[in-house]
Amino acid sequence: MSGTRKLHIKSFGCQMNVYDSLRMADTLAPHGFVETAAAEEADLVILNTCHIREKAAEKVYSELGRIRKLKEAAAREGREVRIAVAGCVAQAEGEEIIRRAPAVDVVVGPQSYHRLPGLVARAARERVVDTELSADKFDVLTPPSRDKTRARGVAAFVTVQEGCDKFCTFCVVPYTRGVELSRPVERIVAEIERLADAGVREITLIGQNVNAYHGEGPDGRPWTLGELIRRVSRVPGIARLRYTTSHPRDMDATLIAAHRDLACLMPYLHLPLQSGSDRILAAMNRRHTRGEYLDVITRMRDARPDVALSSDFIVGFPGESEEDFQASLEMIDLVGYAGAFSFKYSPRPGTPAAAMEQVAEEVKAERLQRLQRAIDRHQAKFNAACHGRTFDVLFEKPGKRPGQLVGRSPYLQPVQVMAPAALIGQVVPVTITEVGTNSLFGALAAAPAEHTEAQRDPAPVARHDSSANRARRSGAAKPAERNDIVVAGA
Ligand code: SAM
Ligand code: SF4
Repeated sequence: MSGTRKLHIKSFGCQMNVYDSLRMADTLAPHGFVETAAAEEADLVILNTCHIREKAAEKVYSELGRIRKLKEAAAREGREVRIAVAGCVAQAEGEEIIRRAPAVDVVVGPQSYHRLPGLVARAARERVVDTELSADKFDVLTPPSRDKTRARGVAAFVTVQEGCDKFCTFCVVPYTRGVELSRPVERIVAEIERLADAGVREITLIGQNVNAYHGEGPDGRPWTLGELIRRVSRVPGIARLRYTTSHPRDMDATLIAAHRDLACLMPYLHLPLQSGSDRILAAMNRRHTRGEYLDVITRMRDARPDVALSSDFIVGFPGESEEDFQASLEMIDLVGYAGAFSFKYSPRPGTPAAAMEQVAEEVKAERLQRLQRAIDRHQAKFNAACHGRTFDVLFEKPGKRPGQLVGRSPYLQPVQVMAPAALIGQVVPVTITEVGTNSLFGALAAAPAEHTEAQRDPAPVARHDSSANRARRSGAAKPAERNDIVVAGA
């Protein structure tokens, strides 16, 4: 191991990248790399990239232009800076990245992060590209130290599966992340036990198609996500569980039963629909109809009446007519989403939809605006309905104002409350007194006490979180992504 070097990681895109960035930092730590939030003082800069839409991929090249200047400035002072490109752009474009951006030293695909220390060492002599797709990186990635986990806060992501076999015609994921691979139950449980031991209270199980999970259980048989969640709910200290992103076809009976039985499984489901038109859903190869999607929601609401939904929509998929688009607007009204992400269709090289007849850019832009207005309307309604209700809030960190804490409602809304710092890491009932644009404001509803949804329901019995039940018929904020969780050094 050489002396201490500084590492800056910038993460683009989804939660999987946020998780991977942390694991890359953990893997480099024993090799003397200490994270920094300032790119200009780093000896190694890693851009963990996203290839899902053209805009996301192009952002990387503009960021590389900025980092190249830092590298040149450092060289003038006699300091060497290495640049690594990781993530899905690395996987998709490989050597092409070095041709387009010669300042890049290392290109590393998502399944090769365990080899990062060796690749960085080799970069002293040559440019390195490693986009091997086959390895199971999870077994060999270094876990974070207890102190590091503590510093990262009370909510954490845990990747349970990676890759996807669905091949939706618009999507690059099956090409960049490879075939679906699920981690064994016991390894996931061990990781969560370590996190809980360091003070983590909320776990979000993540995967590109998380409910396709079928990892090996302790009995040697493949377990479903519902079974995994049931097992994880018994880890001492874990108060809340979430999972994302799900495919409507994989919402099986075990998962719905887990929502029915486990108070610690939050009543907030991100279930991408993409389009409300059966014709477009078929062209997207989504393998379900709008009717089947609505059936899933009915089953979810029967099992967990206080559930709120969020979604992803694509506008302007090839061949989308005004009538197809209207069907998406109709579904937004029918489901009454608490929030949703929406995107203009972006042709991705090598995917089937890229070769189909495209919708004009201005039509996409106009539809996106209309769709976002519909989503915003429902989201505002959902948030407004939270006023006066009492939710359990998991306090995560100090707020902007002195004496204030920020936590999350069951629906992932940020909630700002005047409360003592000792409540960080605790789940406490809060009455919502004001609804802002991006957060809710509230007041402690009872004397502070260790009071968790998990503890109220330690065994998997059919009972719901009481305060969430009080919040029935109410709503949530933007489909809050956990991209706001701090990636040290990012
Ligand atoms: N696995 C999830 C599912 O089945 O819905 C989606 C994961 S994908 C990483 C996140 C979102 O990006 C998708 O739900 C979709 O709305 C959007 N997306 C993916 N490919 C896209 C494309 N080519 N153009 C526009 N949006 C896209
Ligand atoms: Fe992409 Fe999700 Fe479809 Fe898989 S299921 S191909 S990740 S959109």
